[in-house]
Amino acid sequence: MRAELIDGKAFAGKIRAQVAENVARLKSGHGLTPGLAVVLVGEDPASEVYVRSKGKQTLEAGMASFEHKLPSDTAQADLLALIAQLNGDASVHGILVQLPLPDHLDSDLVINAIDPAKDVDGFHISNVGLLGTGQKSMVPCTPLGCLMMLRDQLGSLSGLNAVVVGRSNIVGKPMAQLLLGDSCTVTIAHSRTRDLAAVCRRADILVAAVGRPKMIPGDWIKPGATVIDVGINRIPAPEKGEGKTRLVGDVHFDSAAEVAGAITPVPGGVGPMTIACLLANTVTACCRAHGLPEPT
Ligand code: NDP
Repeated sequence: MRAELIDGKAFAGKIRAQVAENVARLKSGHGLTPGLAVVLVGEDPASEVYVRSKGKQTLEAGMASFEHKLPSDTAQADLLALIAQLNGDASVHGILVQLPLPDHLDSDLVINAIDPAKDVDGFHISNVGLLGTGQKSMVPCTPLGCLMMLRDQLGSLSGLNAVVVGRSNIVGKPMAQLLLGDSCTVTIAHSRTRDLAAVCRRADILVAAVGRPKMIPGDWIKPGATVIDVGINRIPAPEKGEGKTRLVGDVHFDSAAEVAGAITPVPGGVGPMTIACLLANTVTACCRAHGLPEPT
């Protein structure tokens, strides 16, 4: 393997330690405990794992965690009523509605009902617009984590060719905005992109956010490029035993690691950074709500 491994797990640990320090300072200096409310509708097993993990890490950082588990047949009006209640609750600084929501609920309507100042996922249209116009906003956690790793790895990103594969509202588009904000020359690729291999080969920075296991092979990667693999795909792993599975990214790690300059693994790359950034965003929201300087 030629590429340097970007250790998202270790990096996330450092961010969580900084968050815990900032929380301790808010408590001792201002009597404030940042609080994060997570709303889960239904029983999607993957979402339940994420929500448990978020709650655990929130408490470990010294913050308050409020979990709201609602049945899968929850009426939209009831969910909106809960969000209105959380918007008005001064002990809640961040609100996260776990996606995807069951089909009968309108995700856009629900997300846009969150007070933008408490929208720690950064999905409210106000925050999307602020990010797009380069103004202070809440930045979506996964792309923020990717940007932090890229800055840490490369220093200045100015002038680099960045290719983001995937154009979702939660990863691809905000990732592209952040890279543009750091003066990269950004290309957003998607399922209709022609000659994706050639597009990827131009990338000094390649961010894969597709949701297709091992789709991007090593020969699509420019030698020395920095590769951020956002994909989390569960595939069968018969080598581990019957019925067993394992997680892989959107990048074919073994071949990519022979070509790239640096690469994130899956698991242990982007995933841990996402929750760490969620905690950091909640502290930021708490500071803004109280007119205090934001952690840098
Ligand atoms: P979406 O399904 O919303 O978006 C996938 C994107 O990939 C779409 O823009 C789609 O294009 C594009 N795409 C699909 N197939 C191809 C293809 N063959 N060639 C090029 N582009 C393609 O996914 P998300 O953005 O929500 O998530 C992407 C991945 O990241 C998933 O594996 C998800 O699990 C993971 N993820 C990881 C997180 C973390 O914390 N690490 C957080 C969030 C997501 P089009 O728009 O044309 O359909």
